[in-house]
Amino acid sequence: MKAGIFSAGKLGGIFVLAFILAGCRHPATSQPAPDATLKRMDAESAGGRRRNSGRRRKKSQQGSRRGRGGGATPGGGATLDGQVTEDALDEETLCGIGRGRSCDIQVAVKRGLFETGLEPAFPENLDCLGIDETWAIDYTYKRDREQYHGGIDMPTAYGTPIIAAADGTVVAKYEGRRTMRGREIIIRHSPEDTGLPVWTYTQYAHFDEMPKREVGERVRMGEVLGPTGNSGRQGRRERRPAIHFAVWFSADPRYLPRSRKIIPVKGFWMDPIALYRGGTPFDSNSMKALPEGEKRVSVSVMTKDGKVTPPGAKVVWPYYCERK
Ligand SMILES: [Zn+2]
Repeated sequence: MKAGIFSAGKLGGIFVLAFILAGCRHPATSQPAPDATLKRMDAESAGGRRRNSGRRRKKSQQGSRRGRGGGATPGGGATLDGQVTEDALDEETLCGIGRGRSCDIQVAVKRGLFETGLEPAFPENLDCLGIDETWAIDYTYKRDREQYHGGIDMPTAYGTPIIAAADGTVVAKYEGRRTMRGREIIIRHSPEDTGLPVWTYTQYAHFDEMPKREVGERVRMGEVLGPTGNSGRQGRRERRPAIHFAVWFSADPRYLPRSRKIIPVKGFWMDPIALYRGGTPFDSNSMKALPEGEKRVSVSVMTKDGKVTPPGAKVVWPYYCERK
């Protein structure tokens, strides 16, 4: 991103100048390599909301106190591959993926949380469970603040098995008694696991029972994670049983485990349907810009007998499909 800014010639010069000036006026708010847009967001936020690293630390302590029942760290305090502490994260990713109460929702939008118009298309000879609404729709009416749905929901009967979308390692498990998402598991997938040139994270929520797999364990694509349910705090209307399925990605393999969520270093939101395109691009800007005809994505799926359609796919829909 920075290369893009600086290669923009005169415009880049202006940004650099603005950055230097901003730095001179606020020497106490220096942050590692902030980009021009983050700088602009800082400038636009009200004086009292300017963030610095000291405040960020305090906020994270509050976050840890509030969130209980976390399971992102394996027993004995051991650290999993890729785990980092909050120091490794920039403010934009923390807010954009973490979406804490004090975060501007536009930061999440900047990190890819906006509607792209993608729709799943399933193999014609199979019956698959679809989504009820497309990704990142406006949820403000369900919450007490501006918010976008950070996943897709697939409503179906209680107990329907939710399966792992790809090979990967469990990096978090949450009881979620106080969250909207309820019982939840997050799996981290290496580029080898998915065939994509980035690290991806898949999140499955609202389980009726806690998934059995533990943090640190490997799972296989298509493995049953647990039964569909409706766990988690209810919003203004009672939720129907469904999976909430979400995806993040980053070129950086590292991530921050938190008491209620994990945050990939330099992470972005991915429209979960983009995961099934089987290659690049998959970022939200590129997805939104696709011609209408390419917005229907052929989704790779698995049937209960373990057969994958199309053969060789490394990512499958998180519910089994059935033969018609
Ligand atoms: Zn949802």
